[in-house]
Amino acid sequence: MTTKSISLKKLHTFALPVCAEQVIYAETAEQLVAAWLLAKQQSKPFLLLGEGSNALFLSDFAGIVVFNRITGVTSRSTDDSWHLHVGAGENWHKLVTDTLTWGMTGLENLALIPGCVGSAPIQNIGAYGVELKNICEYVDLLDLTTGKTQRILASDCEFGYRESIFKHAYRDGYAIIAVGLRLPKHWQPVLSYGDLRLLDKATVTVRQVFDSVCAMRRAKLPDPAVTGNAGSFFKNPVVSAELAQKIVAAYPDMPVYPQADGSVKLAAGWLIDQCHLKGFAINGAAVHHQQALVLINQGPAISADVVALARHVRQQVAERFGVWLEPEVRFIDSQGERDALEILK
Ligand code: NAP
Repeated sequence: MTTKSISLKKLHTFALPVCAEQVIYAETAEQLVAAWLLAKQQSKPFLLLGEGSNALFLSDFAGIVVFNRITGVTSRSTDDSWHLHVGAGENWHKLVTDTLTWGMTGLENLALIPGCVGSAPIQNIGAYGVELKNICEYVDLLDLTTGKTQRILASDCEFGYRESIFKHAYRDGYAIIAVGLRLPKHWQPVLSYGDLRLLDKATVTVRQVFDSVCAMRRAKLPDPAVTGNAGSFFKNPVVSAELAQKIVAAYPDMPVYPQADGSVKLAAGWLIDQCHLKGFAINGAAVHHQQALVLINQGPAISADVVALARHVRQQVAERFGVWLEPEVRFIDSQGERDALEILK
């Protein structure tokens, strides 16, 4: 179960040349607790990952990286919904395709998102108008110190835009071991984004939505199995209506998405693109040529290249638009997670 000083290059999607002292694959809650105790006994840092699809390693990790591999899916049907209980280590996209095969609807907009089911609530994954919070019923959380599990109802998960309680109060010393999803049987397709708007709401099938989402993602986003990346590197900034108006006055083509609270969401990829940064590279790290929000490892990148590139992108966007982008990707140094904004200063 344990290996010493192992390369993480193939174990995270950015594919950077970093190592960890130990790697453990945990298939049960007991194995997660044992790995945590081992780290405590050895006074070593402990890092829990799903598939490493949202992590930027800044250096080698001086401790134990644990991959959550708790699997299993059970479902039950009620009058109006399907209820799924899914092990945290299940692959997210496989779950999406399985639900389609089982005749269930509701996950199709979230197709092809890299990573595990257990990672999904942490940043409240979202795509094409659907977020995990729309379908999450509960999250089963293991306290690694006591070995006890508690069920956190979705209403208590403090879900926000790429946000949840699992990035804050339940960040350290806890592991998500399962996620409960509720998929309503009365299907209401969400067709507000991109090519989905071309589909006819009256006749559309779930398979058509799934296929359209997959086609859009495959056309625009680099496949992490081929090109190292961690998806959207930055979050879309949410700014005041005043600032949005000011920018629109100078850039009338800028897409704006007004939010319920009066603030305005901007498209970070568009802002980066306006700075003519598509394809811009620092050593082996580059801004993706199709989707500027994604930073890629062209192959030879080291962590410092990605950090230098991210810093450059932030500065360029801030100089042009007065907006400081915040990373969505989590920054990990030798000891654990670091404040990404501190690193990018
Ligand atoms: P896009 O269609 O080029 O649009 C750019 C941004 O504008 C999106 O990020 C999206 O914000 C926003 N947007 C577009 N249409 C919208 C609408 N009808 N209502 C509200 N906001 C709208 O985006 P894309 O880069 O190809 O991505 C498509 C979807 O996949 C997005 O939802 C995006 O979040 C998701 N995605 C996420 C990741 C990740 O790593 N987190 C990576 C790739 C794609 P939102 O992001 O808030 O939806």
